[in-house]
Amino acid sequence: MKWAKEVLNEREKLPNHVRIIANKAVEKAEQAAEHHEETLKDMPKVKDKDISFTKGDEQPGPEKIAIVRCETVSEVCPGAACFKAFNNKKRHFKEYDNDAEIIGFFTCGGCPGRRVSRLVKSLLKYGLTTVHLSSCMMLDSDYPPCPHIEEIRKSIESKGLKVVQGTHH
Ligand code: SF4
Repeated sequence: MKWAKEVLNEREKLPNHVRIIANKAVEKAEQAAEHHEETLKDMPKVKDKDISFTKGDEQPGPEKIAIVRCETVSEVCPGAACFKAFNNKKRHFKEYDNDAEIIGFFTCGGCPGRRVSRLVKSLLKYGLTTVHLSSCMMLDSDYPPCPHIEEIRKSIESKGLKVVQGTHH
C-alpha cells in the first residue's frame, strides 16, 4: 500500500504514543489492503478505529529509536561513538529524555541499502518512532558519503517514521 503524502504529514504531527499506535494500524492496514492509496479522507477511519481509545491519555510514550549505519564503515567501527552520544544525550540525541530507548542497531546491508526498509518494517511492531542515519553515512573522510541516503531516507519516511540524519557528529 502506498500512503499519500498528506497522510504521512498528519501522522508526523501525532504525539509519540499515538504515532506508535497509528504505525501499528498502518501495518495492519497494509496486510489487509484492498486498494493502493489511502487519502486524507481515510485518516478519520484509522483514527476512530485504532487510536480513539487513547483520548484522555496525555502521557507520551518513550521514543523508540533505531540506528542505521554503513555496512562498509562497520568493518572498522563497532558503533561505540553512536552509543556514547545516545547514552549522554549529546549531538543528535540531545532532544531525547531518559525514557528514550534504542531498540534496533543495524547496518544497511551494503549498497544500495535494501536491508533498511525490511528491518525498519520489522521494528514497527516494537513501537519504533524514529530512525537515525548514522553520521558515518554522511561524513566525507576515510569513506565517501553514502550516495543512496536519499532513497534510504524516503523508504523509512514512507512508513510514517521520523528520520534524523546523524548520530555523533
Ligand atoms: S548504501 Fe550507503 S550506507 Fe550502505 S554501504 Fe552503501 S554507502 Fe554505506
